Amino acid sequence: MTTLRVLIWFVVAAVAMLLAVWLAERPGTVTAEWHGWRLDSSVGVLLVALLVLIGLCIGGWLLYRWIVGAPFALLEGWGESRKKRGYRELTQGLAAVAAGDANEAQKHARKAEQLLAEPPITLLLSAQAAQLAGDRDGANRAFTAMLEDEHTAFLGLRGLIGQALREGDQAKALGYAERAFKLKPQTPWVVHSLFDMQAQVGQWKAAQETLDTGMRRKVVTADRGRTLKALLLVERSRATEQDRHSADALMQAREAFALAPERIAVTRRFAELLVKGGDGKRAQKAIERGWALAPHPDLAKLYLEASGESDPLKRIGVVRRLVSHNENDIESHLALAQASLEAALWGEARRHLEVAGGTSPPVRVCRLMAEVEERSGAEQAKVREWLARATDAPADRAWRCTACAAQHEAWRSVCESCGAFGTLQWRAPGTFGHVLPPETRAELEFADKPAHVPLPR
Ligand SMILES: [Zn+2]
Repeated sequence: MTTLRVLIWFVVAAVAMLLAVWLAERPGTVTAEWHGWRLDSSVGVLLVALLVLIGLCIGGWLLYRWIVGAPFALLEGWGESRKKRGYRELTQGLAAVAAGDANEAQKHARKAEQLLAEPPITLLLSAQAAQLAGDRDGANRAFTAMLEDEHTAFLGLRGLIGQALREGDQAKALGYAERAFKLKPQTPWVVHSLFDMQAQVGQWKAAQETLDTGMRRKVVTADRGRTLKALLLVERSRATEQDRHSADALMQAREAFALAPERIAVTRRFAELLVKGGDGKRAQKAIERGWALAPHPDLAKLYLEASGESDPLKRIGVVRRLVSHNENDIESHLALAQASLEAALWGEARRHLEVAGGTSPPVRVCRLMAEVEERSGAEQAKVREWLARATDAPADRAWRCTACAAQHEAWRSVCESCGAFGTLQWRAPGTFGHVLPPETRAELEFADKPAHVPLPR
């Protein structure tokens, strides 16, 4: 590249030299006359003068450009660096938020606010920094200000929902969630949060509508939607029954059972209402179907009640008929053991408990064994041995929340400890088959607090 440039310069210089020599060899004169003025000159001098004039013109033009353009360029550069500094403060502020450094975050937030004339961006940082520093009012102010701009309104609502939940103001949180849902009904956390909140306050119908929208928008899978709808119907059927519309309550329970017979609470609700209405036969049919999918002691109790049988020996036959639909499940053996115990068939009870317990009998099996030994009149040592085994036996199946793992005495649609709906399953610990992935659960906040407010007990 450089050699090419040198070569070009050589050519230009040679041509210029040749031209000068050529002109010097051919001296000529130029004479100009104008209004009594007369100018005599040689051609060479005239050419040089012309070149000098052109050079001066170019120089003057450049000088003019520099003088006129400079202030603007200066201002531009200043603004640019102001913006740059603003963005640097913003970046550092966000990094401080991520690192959990409240003081640093607030310092950078203030500077970014001064430097950048873009409130939407800086507001988020200010809100997060205030939140981190525990400045509730500051965070609320910033989040509320975000509602003014259509681009940040949704983010502002998200922040406000979190704030309201932390303050324990469910009504306020629900109001914000409804607004957020109107803005973006396709966003998973909005659908899940609104649904859970509506369920928490018992707005079953509204929750149903939210769920329908969620399913239409493919935020909730068809399978999960079906189960949730069935559980909502269970709750609606309870509310309807309280309003003394038992026919409607039964209809809702039947609809729920058609949707999700694999949920114990659904089968139980339907059978319960059938027994109440005196339709023991249909109740038994429903429980048999439910038992095949998901057996539970409450269902066995209800089945016996539906049979109307009171003779202990005949009750064993009734239970046998039920468990034939799911023979190998531990619940089936436990139900038979219980019935045998009540009929004073100790050997039969022991046999079923042994099968149910296997190599490491869980608590329920140990306790029932102790009861069998006690009632059959065995030695106290044997009873004590089983009771001792019960204390460090593997945990039983229980109503456990698949979202927070909390254990509950009885089934309820809303988990008392995490506020999630429809997450209680009859399971042994550590066997959560279907835990929701974190992104679909309502993780409302940047902080470590749970998204839901535990319901008052
Ligand atoms: Zn829970």
